[in-house]
Amino acid sequence: MSNAKTVLIVEDEKNIVDILKFNLQRAGYQTLEAYDGEDGLEKAESANPDLILLDVMLPKKNGFDVCRALRQSGSNVPVIILTAREEEADKVLGLEIGADDYITKPFSMRELVARVGANIRRTTMTPPAAASAAAAAMPVSGDLSINTDSHQVFRAGKAIDLTQREYELLTFLASHPNKVYSRIDLMEQVWNYGYVGDDVRTVDVTVRRLREKIEADPANPVFILTRRGAGYYFSVK
Ligand code: CA
Repeated sequence: MSNAKTVLIVEDEKNIVDILKFNLQRAGYQTLEAYDGEDGLEKAESANPDLILLDVMLPKKNGFDVCRALRQSGSNVPVIILTAREEEADKVLGLEIGADDYITKPFSMRELVARVGANIRRTTMTPPAAASAAAAAMPVSGDLSINTDSHQVFRAGKAIDLTQREYELLTFLASHPNKVYSRIDLMEQVWNYGYVGDDVRTVDVTVRRLREKIEADPANPVFILTRRGAGYYFSVK
């Protein structure tokens, strides 16, 4: 008899699992734990958690392979990658393969719990009336179309598989056609972060990934364009 959201922790270091468990439960979440990648993937599929905290270096199957397998199976569960501070490349790779977010170790528990909350909220939010009215009339460009009821995106009649974040970035930009947003704006509007730090790079990676999916020629995009030095916009002529 509980509406508590469930967070699956996939991490092989028991002391980290314990402290995550303690803090998440104190914040009102239920938790599940897996200590290797195979068990993590199995629990992700069987227990249908609301969010997954995913370590990269794991026995049996690493975090990237777990995330990739989840996305290939069609799961859109929010995934936050836990990565070591020095492994800069991991952050980008994690986002490329469909993670929603990453947090670097050692992390503050306050920050981690805040990010868990923000990522779960995004996926459970029902759009306000004004937003859905705008979305219903969402301009599409060329052969790109967006069905905001089914959360599906089509190009030339073919469904495109987007992660939740890619979808939100696309619909946000598309519902404000030709308006340029800086990466900091997008971080606040789409990622719901009140701070940005170095994380604006997340925006670039997500834009690149989105272009690879929706553009016929990602190197010469026609939908999401860059205004050099200013930001990104959805182009409608
Ligand atoms: Ca590890």
